[in-house]
Amino acid sequence: MRSLFIKLILAFLFISLTGVALSALLARQATTREFGQFVQDQGQNRFVTIVTDYYEVYGTWDGILQFMQTTDTSMQGMLMPFNGRNNPESPYVLTDQNNRVIIPFGRFDLNNVVSASDLSGGIQIKVNNTVVGTVINAAAPALDARQQAYLDRISRALLLGALGSAAVALLLGIFLARTFTRPLRELTGAIQSMAEGELKQAVPVRSKDELGKLTIAFNQMSAQISQANELRRQMTADIAHDLRSPLTVISGYIESLRDGVLKPTPTRLDAIYDEVQHLQRLVDDLHTLSQADAGNLTQNRQTVAPQALLERIAAWYGHLAEAKNISLEVKTDEKLPSFMADPDRMAQVLENLVGNALRYTPDGGKIVLSAGADADNVLLKVEDNGKGIEPEALPHIFERFYRADESRQGNESGLGLAIAKAIVDLNGGRITASSEGVGKGSSFTVSMPAVKGA
Ligand code: ADP
Repeated sequence: MRSLFIKLILAFLFISLTGVALSALLARQATTREFGQFVQDQGQNRFVTIVTDYYEVYGTWDGILQFMQTTDTSMQGMLMPFNGRNNPESPYVLTDQNNRVIIPFGRFDLNNVVSASDLSGGIQIKVNNTVVGTVINAAAPALDARQQAYLDRISRALLLGALGSAAVALLLGIFLARTFTRPLRELTGAIQSMAEGELKQAVPVRSKDELGKLTIAFNQMSAQISQANELRRQMTADIAHDLRSPLTVISGYIESLRDGVLKPTPTRLDAIYDEVQHLQRLVDDLHTLSQADAGNLTQNRQTVAPQALLERIAAWYGHLAEAKNISLEVKTDEKLPSFMADPDRMAQVLENLVGNALRYTPDGGKIVLSAGADADNVLLKVEDNGKGIEPEALPHIFERFYRADESRQGNESGLGLAIAKAIVDLNGGRITASSEGVGKGSSFTVSMPAVKGA
C-alpha cells in the first residue's frame, strides 16, 4: 500500500466500522437478553396465574397435570403462551404443599420432592394466605417465531445502520484524505520541479497545522536555495568580469612590448605591476571568502583590547590620511571591556572599513574611530563625513561584488565588506552600516560580545 491517501481512507473506514460493529454487538446482546427476560417473565406470570386460578377454583391440585396437558388448543394456547412449536412442554415445574413435583419438567420428575435450594428460586403460590405450592423455572424458554422475527428485524436494522455509517465513513474518509494529502501532493510536485532545476517554488499555504508549517519551511528553503544559486551565478560572472580587465591590460602591454611597439619604461612596468597586484588582491580576497564559507578561516582567538586595536589601525593609516588631508581621530571610552576574537582578522576588518572611509571621503574630510560598550557588547565604530551611501544601496553593501557605483573604474573588488562581515560573523559578532544619505557620511559599527568581568 504505497498511497497515504488509501491508507487514510482505510483507517477512517476501519475505525468507523469497528465502532459500529462494537455498538451493534452490544446493542444486539442487550436486546436479546432483555427481550428473553421479558418473554420469560411474561410466561412465568401467566403460568403462575393459571395454576393459582386452578387451585382457587378446585381447592386442590388433583387433576392439574391433566388440565395443563389438555388437548384443547384454545386452552393450551391460553395456558402456555410461551410454548413455541419447537417446545411443546412448559419449562415450569409446579410442586405441592409437600414440595412434591406435580407438574414435571427436565430433571424434576413427577412426585419427587424438590430440594430447599431449588425451591428458594421459585415463586410461591398463595391461596388465602397459605402457601399451597411453588412454581420453579426449570429452563429458559425458547423464543417463538414472532419473537425471533422481532429480534431478526432489530439485527437487520443494526446491519443497515452499520452499512450506512460505513458508506458515510467512506465518503468522509475520501474527502478528508484528499484534503490532508493535497499539500503533500503539491509539495512533491514542487520538489520534483526543483530537482529538474526550477529552484524557485511557491507552494500555496492552505492551513496553519503541521502541513502548513512544512509548506512555509519548504517555500523558505526554496527561496534561499534559489537566491544562493542566483548569487553563485552572479559571482561567477563578476569574477570573470573582474579578472578580464586587468588581464586585458597586462596582455596588451606585454604584446606591445614583445612586438617592440612600446618600450619598457618604468611607468609602463608600474602599470603592469599595478594590474598584477590587483589580480593578486582579488585572488587573495576570493581565497579568504572561500575559506570563511567552508569554516576554514584560521582563527587565533584571544582577548582583544578595543583601544589598542583602534590605535594600531590609526597608526597604520595615519600617513595615508595625512596625504589626503583627512583627519583621523581615535575616541574611546575609559575602562572598556575586552572581547574574544582573532586580533589579526579584526585588524583586517577595521583596515577594510578605514580603507573604504579614506576612499569615499574627499580631501579635508574627517574619519573617527571610536570604541564604546553597551550592556553586553563592545562597539567599534568607523565614521566618516564623506560620500555617504544611498538608502537603496545600504541593504546590499555587504553582498559579494556589490559596488554602489557600478560605473566606477578602480581597484576595488567589491569584496571588502563581504569579507569583513564573514570575519565578524565567524568571531560571533555583528556588523552594521548606516548613512543619512548621499553626501552625509557613513558609519560602520562592529559589535562584539564583551568578555564579562574583563
Ligand atoms: P569596494 O571594494 O567596492 O569598496 P566594499 O565591499 O568594501 O567594496 O564596499 C561595497 C560598497 O559599499 C562600495 O562599493 C561603496 O559603494 C559602499 N561603501 C563602503 N564603504 C563606504 C563608505 N565609507 N562611504 C561610502 N560608501 C561606502
